[in-house]
Amino acid sequence: MPEPRAQTQKSNLAVPGLGELPVVSVRSDRPGPVAVITANLHGDECTGVGVVHRLRHLLPERLLRGCVHLYPSLNPGGLREASRGVPGDERDPNRSFPGAVDGSMAERLAHASWTDILSRTPDLLVDLHTDSVRAIPYAILDRVCRGNGRRELDQRCQDLAAASGLTVLREYPRPRYLRYGLDRSLPGALVNGPGIAAVTLEVGPRRALDPRAVEVALQAALGVLTAAGLVDCPAPAHASVVPGGPWRRESGPRCTQAGVLEVLPEPGQVFPAGEIIARVRSLDGRTLQELAAPEAGFVVAVPDRCWVASASACATLAVRDGG
Ligand SMILES: [Zn+2]
Repeated sequence: MPEPRAQTQKSNLAVPGLGELPVVSVRSDRPGPVAVITANLHGDECTGVGVVHRLRHLLPERLLRGCVHLYPSLNPGGLREASRGVPGDERDPNRSFPGAVDGSMAERLAHASWTDILSRTPDLLVDLHTDSVRAIPYAILDRVCRGNGRRELDQRCQDLAAASGLTVLREYPRPRYLRYGLDRSLPGALVNGPGIAAVTLEVGPRRALDPRAVEVALQAALGVLTAAGLVDCPAPAHASVVPGGPWRRESGPRCTQAGVLEVLPEPGQVFPAGEIIARVRSLDGRTLQELAAPEAGFVVAVPDRCWVASASACATLAVRDGG
């Protein structure tokens, strides 16, 4: 059998008023699934940019069949300014899908990328994000709330997420998932609209490229592509994987005092219900508040800040998902 061959093609997606987004497509001469990998929708989250750059050079050698479309940045303005959102728009671009052609900047950007992504008829999408400096890497699964074949699509997303080799978290329970507009995130809109499988990977710190985080996220993305049959690069289980579950994302208990936040457990370290997981201290060091875990779980990520306002969640947690 001849060696598979792949061709690389670059195109630019023009977004009126927001410039151009590059797209790199690596296409095998053997037919197969179509995957889309998107990065940097939150402009200060850059691990995915590094992953896409690595994939551009790796995939021509590794692609067995099908096609992978790589979007190194869905928010180049945010990347330039190291801002989460689209410059000039307060709205979260990852709550703006499928977007609107004459909407806010974030909605226009969402509309342009959504239209371009769907025109490529993907079978799956991997959206690359980052959480915080003090966090475990994880894969997050949207709630499939609408459409026929929900159960099958949810199972397909679960299988893809598990293939990342990372801890898998389900999103908030459905009522909060919808209230927070997470069905309007890019993967949320895909699973709840056209019914396309999607997974989000959250790896590494924001704002600067960390080569170790890029390597972890690259292996995770290749693991997902392996499960979809495009490459043969299974992801090893990451050392931080928390056994048990299924787990879901939960906000940690909220501070009732502003102050210096100290989160006690290491991310990924399981704690029982009632354990003190965080302290808020005054600047002169008095303990103002101790925060206990309402249920068993583990810390996923600690906020990238030391001083917290009153009513802030002390951390992102994982707890067991009741279904
Ligand atoms: Zn993000």
